[in-house]
Amino acid sequence: MTASTFVYDFADGNRDMKDLLGGKGANLAEMSNLGLPVPPGFTITTEACRHHLTTGDVPPELAGEVDSHLEALEGAMGKRLGDPADPLLVSVRSGAAFSMPGMMETVLNVGLSDASVTGLAERTGNERFAWDSYRRLIQMFGRTVCDVPGDAFEDALDAARRARGVEHDTGLDAAALKELVGTFKEIFAKHAGRDFPQDPREQLELATRAVFDSWNADRAVLYRRQERIPADAGTAVNVVAMVFGNMGDDSGTGVAFTRDPGTGAQGIYGDYLQNAQGEDVVAGIRNTVPLGDLERIDKAVYDELLRTMSTLEDHYRDLCDIEFTVERGKLWMLQTRVGKRTAAAAFTIATQLLDEGVIDLDEALRRVSGAQLGQLMFPTFATTEEKPVARGVAASPGAAVGKAVFDSARAAELGAAGENVILVRRETNPDDLPGMIAARGVLTSRGGKTSHAAVVARGMGKTCVCGADRLDVDVHNRQFTVDGQTVNEGDVVSIDGSTGDVYLGEVPVEPSLVVRYFEGEVEPDSEPLVRAVHTLLTHADGKRTLNVRTNADTGADAARARRFGAEGIGLCRTEHMFLGERRPMVERLILATDDAERQAALDELRPLQRKDFASLLREMSGLPVTIRLIDPPLHEFLPSLVDLEVLVAIAKERGEDPGRDGDLLTAVRRMHEENPMLGLRGVRLGLVVPGLFDMQVRAVAEAAREVREAGGDPRPEIMVPLVGAVQELETVKAAATAVIADVDPGVDVMIGTMIELPRAALTAGQIAGAAEFFSFGTNDLTQLGWGFSRDDVESSFFTRYLELGIFGVSPFESIDTEGVGRLIRIAVAEGREARADLKVGVCGEHGGDPESVHFFADVGLDYVSCSPFRVPVARLEAGRAAV
Ligand code: ADP
Ligand code: MG
Ligand code: MG
Repeated sequence: MTASTFVYDFADGNRDMKDLLGGKGANLAEMSNLGLPVPPGFTITTEACRHHLTTGDVPPELAGEVDSHLEALEGAMGKRLGDPADPLLVSVRSGAAFSMPGMMETVLNVGLSDASVTGLAERTGNERFAWDSYRRLIQMFGRTVCDVPGDAFEDALDAARRARGVEHDTGLDAAALKELVGTFKEIFAKHAGRDFPQDPREQLELATRAVFDSWNADRAVLYRRQERIPADAGTAVNVVAMVFGNMGDDSGTGVAFTRDPGTGAQGIYGDYLQNAQGEDVVAGIRNTVPLGDLERIDKAVYDELLRTMSTLEDHYRDLCDIEFTVERGKLWMLQTRVGKRTAAAAFTIATQLLDEGVIDLDEALRRVSGAQLGQLMFPTFATTEEKPVARGVAASPGAAVGKAVFDSARAAELGAAGENVILVRRETNPDDLPGMIAARGVLTSRGGKTSHAAVVARGMGKTCVCGADRLDVDVHNRQFTVDGQTVNEGDVVSIDGSTGDVYLGEVPVEPSLVVRYFEGEVEPDSEPLVRAVHTLLTHADGKRTLNVRTNADTGADAARARRFGAEGIGLCRTEHMFLGERRPMVERLILATDDAERQAALDELRPLQRKDFASLLREMSGLPVTIRLIDPPLHEFLPSLVDLEVLVAIAKERGEDPGRDGDLLTAVRRMHEENPMLGLRGVRLGLVVPGLFDMQVRAVAEAAREVREAGGDPRPEIMVPLVGAVQELETVKAAATAVIADVDPGVDVMIGTMIELPRAALTAGQIAGAAEFFSFGTNDLTQLGWGFSRDDVESSFFTRYLELGIFGVSPFESIDTEGVGRLIRIAVAEGREARADLKVGVCGEHGGDPESVHFFADVGLDYVSCSPFRVPVARLEAGRAAV
């Protein structure tokens, strides 16, 4: 055989060659080299596939290379492909570097033809088997290679079964199958516009190309997008000598796991089907038997299978799943891979292997992920008996039940009254935040995984199903219809954010076991899953260099986050304290026409702020609490322009005095901005609205004094938002320092800034002259770095961008390491150069995103800050980043 570049024999590969040989090929090679019974074969590389995908044709040298490998295979088997007297048959199987189960295509029994089917029948003395294999080939080849509708074949198969009065295809005898082959060939010719190819080499070549093309099948594309698998990796093609599970009752095919992929429990997990070929098991055309039954059917094969599985587990040091076939009492291994598993199983298996001494703690930690831990923290539906009425995008996991409510204010109102509500909207926008906060879950009929509803809900750890497009949401009449049924405000619905299912009525839920453990309600060693989470998180805490803080605005959130392991508060958004009943005070502040009025409004707000801050400082006693001065434009606290215009117009119409509404309207018009995100907000507000920042700083200092006097250890840090120039910070800092000294000369309050404008990142060296800490506001830094507003663009063009591969994932979900990340690196380096002990953290949504956490660890930040429910996730990922 000449050396080849695009084709590898199983003997020449190993499990580390996944990128080139795909997972299936690499593991087939690994198994053959372990001496396990794998039918001989070879792998055409992913590189050949990429060539085919980009140029529309296979590399010119491929045909020759396949010829020489085929010759070697024929030599090993003592048969020639498609030989009329005694044919070698092969399977042509897809297999990419990343497991994409069932997403691409495979053709079995390649090499059969009108001539060789007779040879196969004679050679094996099994006519039924030969014709069964042939009809399978025409069927799979037709569907996969020539786009013949699968139903056409299925219908013909049904008809044949009915005609013979048998229930299963196994009931069809040789004569019936021979007739069926005739019908299948007609179906093939009709739909494919050509006869079924009789030349085995042509079959092989066409099947190979079809497998390459299946890389771009719709479902494969969709799956890759979901799983963040690169769009250009391509699939390998494995050509494997066929072994036959359809030779009679002494033959069969099955799948198995070396442990339970749902729980990690050890035992015998799998399914077996007698007298069948591989695809029958998955297709579910006949009932499989539990793998344990194989012991009764064929004890010798069963024992060998168990030995093989334990060899594989020892070798891969992990749960494996396998495909196998028994041909007349002989076991053949057709596939193995480190098996997919549920989040719970990932944790329990990692600690089982640890206990068994198979892997060490670092390795165990590497084998679980923050995303999995996140899943374990969402509430669960106690039963799944009910039937969903619709399915949307599983945007943020969990199970939520509540009364359907169609606007934010009503949701907030009912939520405050202790009701469980589900906020139902066509789509959400930032105005819906209070309602989202108050709701148990969010349900929308539009938008995808990066829609506002999805992103915000995930950040809050709130269950969300979005884009359930079968719902017709009518916000105006406070109802939605689905399937002819109408759900009115107050009717109970249940949504499952892990599956996207929507139910009418109540499906019972419970807090997850893992959350009850974090809350201290469940002992660490009570259950295997809890013990696993405890063990791995404890190890992560020991290893990580990154601290984890929380974003919290209330004492209750702070307390919970502390129970979840938060090491302080990285972001308190003070504007959240200006909502609800305090809104009128804020209105008075904004509408004030002179200093006295303004000061009166500020004096009214200060004790309330002080109380809020004191409660945070108390809950986080001994730990840092970063309080951000007010950030959003003030008109966000006023009623909407449109609403006011309507109210005032109505009043005028009736000849009434619009009164206060008229004043508000004037103010709203005066303050209207085309681009509020780029307008009067953040530090700019502090510099133009007299007394506003002073009031907040004074409230912080007073709260700190109060907590200290009560025996606590308050550690407030004041953070100035949206700084772009060091002069802004210097001005605010000078004023703040004076206020603090006035309240309590002995107190030490750190003053720092957010880095969220590109200019701030690029002048970080100057800014660090005034800032004692930096906190990257990665949401704004992303918006302003890319120049797009999150609220506007996610629903308009992100889907298209994701399709085009411009992003692999929304930059609001995972930090854009190349662009926005570069700004961060520059700011960290230049900031620390100017001030060696500069503390640097991040407080954007990205702080709780597993991939971003690894980036932040790599950049050398001191901490990340995220919502309370993401704290354990960030702890785990920070630990994983360190091992
Ligand atoms: P998928 O990736 O969808 O599982 P596979 O390439 O693994 O596709 O093949 C589909 C089915 O055909 C599997 O059950 C597999 O075990 C079976 N199969 C594949 N190659 C052979 C072969 N050479 N002999 C017998 N069965 C095979
Ligand atoms: Mg398979
Ligand atoms: Mg910001």
